[in-house]
Amino acid sequence: MGNIKEQTLVLIKPDGIQRGLIGNVIGRFEMKGLKVAGIKMMSLDEAILREHYAHIADKPFFPGVSSFMRSSPVVALCLEGLDVVNAVRILCGITKSREADAGTIRGDLAMSVACNVVHASDTVENAQAEVKRFFKQDDLFHYDKSEYMHVYVDDERA
Ligand code: ADP
Repeated sequence: MGNIKEQTLVLIKPDGIQRGLIGNVIGRFEMKGLKVAGIKMMSLDEAILREHYAHIADKPFFPGVSSFMRSSPVVALCLEGLDVVNAVRILCGITKSREADAGTIRGDLAMSVACNVVHASDTVENAQAEVKRFFKQDDLFHYDKSEYMHVYVDDERA
């Protein structure tokens, strides 16, 4: 059984901010039954983007991604739940939004590859590093969520 305290990092990207999708995106995560452990609006600089997007830093499209990600603030979320990294990736849909499954954030709300509304950590290991990159320990909250009684069964909560 996975860990109910697993955490992942989501960024609502500048297109999501500009298009007024903050509430819609956060609402989807809330409706799924995920716990919001941290939430903040922030402007990203080149240094954090270089670190965050190290895996695409040598791609020809990286400068465009970097300037897009600096074009508005973003909203960073730390979400918590059982197998949350995988669950959130499923909710987000594939990178190329216009081919993403209907029902996913990208499938429902976007058309672009670059402007695809959200970032979500892709592995548990990366999620741990990404949560640390965007949140100080004091920015993360540990609390009981009463709806967990109805979101999970006993052995999933153990
Ligand atoms: P994902 O965000 O789905 O995990 P990647 O880690 O491969 O995707 O890429 C990071 C981000 O870089 C994507 O979300 C997208 O905004 C941008 N990106 C990826 N591929 C391209 C591309 N071919 N052209 C423009 N932007 C891209």
